[in-house]
Amino acid sequence: MSRLKDSFGRVIDDLRISLTDRCNFRCVYCMPAEGLAWVPKREILTYEEILRLVRIFIDLGIRTVRLTGGEPLMRQDIDVLIEGLIRLAPDLDLSMTSNGFFLKDKAPRLAAAGLKRINVSLDSLQPERFERMVRREGQLVFKILDGLQVARAAGLHPIKLNCVVMRGYNEDELVDFARLGRENDYQVRFIEYMPLDAQGAWSMQAVVPGAEILARIHTVFPLVPASGHGTEPATVYRFADGRGSIGVIASVTEPFCESCNRIRITADGQLRTCLFSLHEYNLKGLLRSGATDEEIADSILAAVWKKEAGHKINQPDFVKPARSMSAIGG
Ligand code: SAM
Ligand code: SF4
Repeated sequence: MSRLKDSFGRVIDDLRISLTDRCNFRCVYCMPAEGLAWVPKREILTYEEILRLVRIFIDLGIRTVRLTGGEPLMRQDIDVLIEGLIRLAPDLDLSMTSNGFFLKDKAPRLAAAGLKRINVSLDSLQPERFERMVRREGQLVFKILDGLQVARAAGLHPIKLNCVVMRGYNEDELVDFARLGRENDYQVRFIEYMPLDAQGAWSMQAVVPGAEILARIHTVFPLVPASGHGTEPATVYRFADGRGSIGVIASVTEPFCESCNRIRITADGQLRTCLFSLHEYNLKGLLRSGATDEEIADSILAAVWKKEAGHKINQPDFVKPARSMSAIGG
């Protein structure tokens, strides 16, 4: 049982680690076209620092680690980090969230190093629309779809697709995504657009509620509930004919904060106890000033105890965090 508990009785056993705040895409719901002021390289945790922290987190009870970013596959020699993580804990549930651009080239090395599964973000299956959404060109949808096949052949399983649904952009493609998932054994997870874009363009009008997502798919491919939330952010629905499932992550319209079991470390080594935290804990400072493992563990325990009750999107006292999704690590 994890020793990481908060004052609301939630047990924390899931850690998201951002490997970089940099990205080769500029998704409309995440980053401005011109990019952001990147964290200087010297401020980014080294692999040695990450491995030391993860060892401490595992001792405290973390069982699931997800590598993210920015785009995690922009970090060099990521297979070296994955091997190090698996050496620390061979049964670690280790996964990654990626935009899929480098997957075709890198998936075999990732799987050989010990990565178990992957989530790939894909928001449109229409080539031109996709390029408008990520603000990059070059037959990208095909490249990513090829990468998914390579990932599967390399043994990564399950493969999940993350699709952020935005009003006026891609809500007419929900059934196409469901069909793609059914035909290829991918679990598509439809994500509500959250106020974590760097530009501050988010509005409730642009959010397509989970209930609407579900209804649109259900009329074509009937669905049945598969499970409650558990500690997964996605509510899972099975296709009634048995051909796979979808997930809906309704963070805005149906928050699941009361069952949240996750915390995050930013690429520059700050512990965040919520995506929407307004306060961070400087683990990098401890690492680089000679703190012992026990001192770091005590700081983590104290920070987790103070984990926020939940986000306050749509409440009058909601305050958007200073960092946006790519700098936090989604
Ligand atoms: N670059 C990788 C990727 O895109 O998969 C990993 C980092 S990205 C920040 C992690 C996830 O956050 C992606 O699935 C992305 O679609 C999602 N995301 C980014 N901005 C979001 C927003 N404003 N609302 C909801 N999801 C968002
Ligand atoms: Fe990059 Fe991922 Fe943000 Fe898109 S969602 S800009 S791929 S970090």
